[in-house]
Amino acid sequence: MSDEGNSRFRAARVARFTESVIREMTRLAIRHQAVNLAQGFPDFPAPDVLKEAAARAVAEDYNQYAITWGSKPLRDAIAAKYLRYHGLELDPEREITVVCGSTEGMVASLLATTNPDDEIVMFEPFYENYGPDADLCSARRRYVSLHAPEWSFDPAELRAAFGPRTKAIILNSPHNPTGKVFQRQELDQIAALCQEFDTLCITDEIYEHIVYDGAVHVPMLTLPGMRQRTILISSMSKTYSVTGWRVGWVLAPPHLTASIRKVHDFLTVGAAAPLQQAGVLALSMPDEYYSSLAGHYLQRRDLLMDHLAAAGLPCTRPGGAYYLMADITPFGLSDDLLFIRHLIENIGVAAVPGSSFFATPGCGAQFVRFCFCKKYETLEQAGRLLRRMRSGELHVAELPSS
Ligand code: GLN
Repeated sequence: MSDEGNSRFRAARVARFTESVIREMTRLAIRHQAVNLAQGFPDFPAPDVLKEAAARAVAEDYNQYAITWGSKPLRDAIAAKYLRYHGLELDPEREITVVCGSTEGMVASLLATTNPDDEIVMFEPFYENYGPDADLCSARRRYVSLHAPEWSFDPAELRAAFGPRTKAIILNSPHNPTGKVFQRQELDQIAALCQEFDTLCITDEIYEHIVYDGAVHVPMLTLPGMRQRTILISSMSKTYSVTGWRVGWVLAPPHLTASIRKVHDFLTVGAAAPLQQAGVLALSMPDEYYSSLAGHYLQRRDLLMDHLAAAGLPCTRPGGAYYLMADITPFGLSDDLLFIRHLIENIGVAAVPGSSFFATPGCGAQFVRFCFCKKYETLEQAGRLLRRMRSGELHVAELPSS
């Protein structure tokens, strides 16, 4: 088909889409047999009890559609967990929607609540899906910078991003890619603006249980005045190390849930029924499960940070999630794409170019993102390879040209 024909059948809403850089890095890692510290998924097994529960659910014939907005036992388990951890009383009949991962949760929430040309505020750097999510709604994106090394934002810049067209702000805490855990005072500032400008706050809390050094995750939904204007999105993926299951949930007040459920129904009908059944067991895990999860990730964080320091790559200590942004400027470089190409092809470690988390041209090129949701031995192997970059082994003059 001619170029003209090709563009005739390309919707304007996808015109800005690029391939997901994170998933592209996984493909490159496989091609070059590099250690994959790019895409954030565990390379260690999911908990045995969950694998057994999923197998049992298939054997017991949970194999047909569940109720479109989620099986009753799973919605009950979600309600019980949020009551136990955050004192939140949620009505499983009217405030909980089970979706196909938080990716679907975010896009279904935005499609259900925004109109074309509405503005959506997001902090930059941001998890790469949020941009295309806004584009799918033909909404306009507004960015607010998080400034390294602490990834703090300027309250005046945040305020300036809000206006009469603002429909929602997307908040991701603990934050991918920086590991920032938004502090209570920062949440208060965001909440005050949402109320002043009558906007929604859509929160991606998928790393809620992965926090370090005494950091506390506070759901925006629990702040005064925010219950009616917050949509909380989370999932089983990161908490239970089952990123391929695609089971997530959206918590929202009834008037929002009604629309979100319709979008979800027409988009996907529902999440995998046997995995929802296994989710009931997951959501009922004892407290020790969560403390052990965070404890292991803390050790992995410190291990990778040591290796990166030894390789000459400084980074800010993440307070949560399982990523860190390393600064490549000590190598005399500010071209993340070139650096990553060398890292994958010649050193044997894959990471994600920092610029893929920024939309503002020229931003983020001094960073690369490593994830540490990997076996200790994988991190050790990556560490051995990364140390080879030290002492001038990787100098800009020796890099292949891009
Ligand atoms: N959240 C993970 C990451 O940022 C995985 C993203 C994805 O590929 N869905 O790496």
